[in-house]
Amino acid sequence: MKKPLLLVIIIVFIFINSFCIYQVLNTHDRYKVLLKGNNDIKLSYNSDYSDEGFEVLLNDKEVSYDELDSYDIISDVDTTKLGEYKVEYNIKYRGRDYHFERIVRVVDEEAPTIETNMDEVTLGYCNNELTSTLEYKALDNFDGDITDKVKKSESDDKYILSVTDSNGNKTEKELKKKVGEKPTDKIVLNGRASVSIELGSSYKEEGAYLTDGCGETIEGEIVTSGNVDTNKEGKYTITYKLKDNDNIKNKRTITVYKETAKASNGSGIIYLTFDDGPGAYTSQILNTLDKYNVKATFFVTNQFPGYKNTIKQEYDRGHTVAVHSLTHNWNIYQSSNAYWNDFNAMNDIIEQQTGHRTTLLRFPGGTSNHMANKTSGKVGMSTLVNEVNSKGLHYFDWNVSVEDAGSCVNVSDKVSCVVNNFKRYINPNRENIVLMHDIKSFTANGLEQMIVYAKNQGYTFKAINENTNPIHFKPYQ
Ligand SMILES: [Zn+2]
Repeated sequence: MKKPLLLVIIIVFIFINSFCIYQVLNTHDRYKVLLKGNNDIKLSYNSDYSDEGFEVLLNDKEVSYDELDSYDIISDVDTTKLGEYKVEYNIKYRGRDYHFERIVRVVDEEAPTIETNMDEVTLGYCNNELTSTLEYKALDNFDGDITDKVKKSESDDKYILSVTDSNGNKTEKELKKKVGEKPTDKIVLNGRASVSIELGSSYKEEGAYLTDGCGETIEGEIVTSGNVDTNKEGKYTITYKLKDNDNIKNKRTITVYKETAKASNGSGIIYLTFDDGPGAYTSQILNTLDKYNVKATFFVTNQFPGYKNTIKQEYDRGHTVAVHSLTHNWNIYQSSNAYWNDFNAMNDIIEQQTGHRTTLLRFPGGTSNHMANKTSGKVGMSTLVNEVNSKGLHYFDWNVSVEDAGSCVNVSDKVSCVVNNFKRYINPNRENIVLMHDIKSFTANGLEQMIVYAKNQGYTFKAINENTNPIHFKPYQ
């Protein structure tokens, strides 16, 4: 019986002993619980945030989160809002509690960007102004499009665009200034570049003069050649050349025309009139008129200042330029003063472009418009008509409308609509003053058809002048 008992004792001893050895080893385990990464983090606005978490190392080996007693991470980080956030970590491992905190600051320290359509700017030799439009866009990660906050400044040799976002981050973009080349000398004509005169009348040569590239008159001998036979129908060209430089030249075309029988007795005449421009389609209209040697009348505005120089084109190519309105805003009828201020400002531009002031005008909306309604405190059209007459000016309404600002606007085939109205309403037994708008693409596109039709019908086209029989609507109040 002694032997088995001893064996049991030995076994129990070994077992207890090994347990004790294990315990001893166990008490020598080295473990750490610690935060991963920085405990104070700066984060860009709208960036992605991924928390690095914490780690538990047992004898330098990472313990998986599954082996912990428990853990909990509390975070309210929102990178879409600037601010300071806290991430909290509560960990229990081997019966002990650990607590950590991490601060996350969501900040906007990113400066906006400025994009431009050019890296350097070219200035005109004569006027020191930009030769092409500088376009730019400012974008910011926090504010979005802040183009309207861009400030422009300049020094002798550069243009500076700067913008600051709402969190104080600033960007500057410098564009080097470059002065363009001096333009060459130019021969400028006195009077129009295109002249139409009736068969048998006389032609008076108005001459030309030399200017430097900046428009200053300078000395230089101009040789004029070519002649006009006013007793023979046709197109004549007068050329002007600088005596010692053949490359500097200009020309004038003179058309000697015969009035048709119909036109000479006052009927069958068409006065094409274009209101509201110059604009995007005016050049096309001028080219069509040139093609058929038709002279027309432009009642101009400054609604599209980028096309201001087209007024000179209209004049040079033999058309009549007259006032419609600087702004074409109905507040010009607020008072007599308001009307004449607007009128004079437009006539100033006409004078700059053509060298002459005009005495011809068309009221916006026509003389029968209701916008000047006297009973509602406006100037009243009768007052303006009296003032126009007493100033020796001439106003023109119309007796044909192609409806390009009316019923044709809402149909699918606008070109046919205006062409058909033109054909329907012109009358061979009278003078026709035709209302059109050179800011309408479909009018520009239908013009050729109208001219060809009317020419085939024997009509004559004329531009309005001071002696043209006007059409006058009854003034509204
Ligand atoms: Zn108008």
